[in-house]
Amino acid sequence: MLGKKRIALVAHDNMKRDLAAWVDWNWEVLLKHHLICTGTTGKMVAQTLMDRRGNEHGRFDITFLKSGPLGGDQQLGAMIAEGEVDTLIFFWDPMMAQPHDVDVKALMRLATVYNVPMAINRSTADFLIASPFFEGEYVREVKDYRSYIERSLKG
Ligand code: PGA
Repeated sequence: MLGKKRIALVAHDNMKRDLAAWVDWNWEVLLKHHLICTGTTGKMVAQTLMDRRGNEHGRFDITFLKSGPLGGDQQLGAMIAEGEVDTLIFFWDPMMAQPHDVDVKALMRLATVYNVPMAINRSTADFLIASPFFEGEYVREVKDYRSYIERSLKG
């Protein structure tokens, strides 16, 4: 992955203020990239960027998926499986069960399977965005799953 990256942003309701604060702090860097957000998170991210920059230079480069509990996490998981996400910032709520807990787990699982850099709290997000790889070149190794795909199913 080079230069402009595809950055997914997701936050559970109790964590949305934290993500908004992080986006606000990093708005100039984030505007250089393509953002992919679950529905409600996306509205909040767009509003935060708009408050900072105004909308005079046209639209932001944001893809809005469905709201997480309505399939947004699964849409994002599918994008990860297709190699369409370079980084995942996912502020999940450790203090409250979610109606779509299975989707949350699946999303984190796929990010792990495909070795997508994933920040699940603010300090890790700070480390990620401060990394030279964030704006520079980074070759993400994906494990070779061929032996799994070609495994024998004979008894
Ligand atoms: P939301 O979804 O951005 O639509 O609130 C986030 C999530 O719960 O995955």
